[in-house]
Amino acid sequence: MSLRIGQGFDVHAFGPGDHLMLGGVRVPHEYGVVAHSDGDVLLHALTDALLGALALGDIGQWFPPSDPRWADADSSQFVAAAMNAVGEHGYRVNNVDLTLLAEAPKIAPHSAAMRARIAELLDLDLSRVGLKATTTEGLGLVGRREGIAAQAIVLLCH
Ligand code: MG
Repeated sequence: MSLRIGQGFDVHAFGPGDHLMLGGVRVPHEYGVVAHSDGDVLLHALTDALLGALALGDIGQWFPPSDPRWADADSSQFVAAAMNAVGEHGYRVNNVDLTLLAEAPKIAPHSAAMRARIAELLDLDLSRVGLKATTTEGLGLVGRREGIAAQAIVLLCH
């Protein structure tokens, strides 16, 4: 069996708005995020992890923010494109582990829906989709509530 591991990281600044898209789920919040697409940090980190596992560059190369096609884009299409590449290279996802870094909003009420959506996008059993959330104890850009960040790790197998 051939294995490939990939990791991804993303940050978006908070801006005007009333919700965040996180893991493909609409989460009400006192801010939105500044982004060209829908600004879904979790799906952006996941896309980069999938691309990274195959050494295929990053989401910015695949979906340039300068391209009007991706304005307000549903980020699930970025994951879908990366999953196409995974399939074309003869791999499938074994499991993913995701961490959201935020002081607010509270993720727990939405985590089941996020995991279900991510499992669907990756064609995975729910038991193979890890999702965690942490604050940064008031420190740094997340702690100052300037924005939200996410990390993803994926394992692909052949
Ligand atoms: Mg992003």
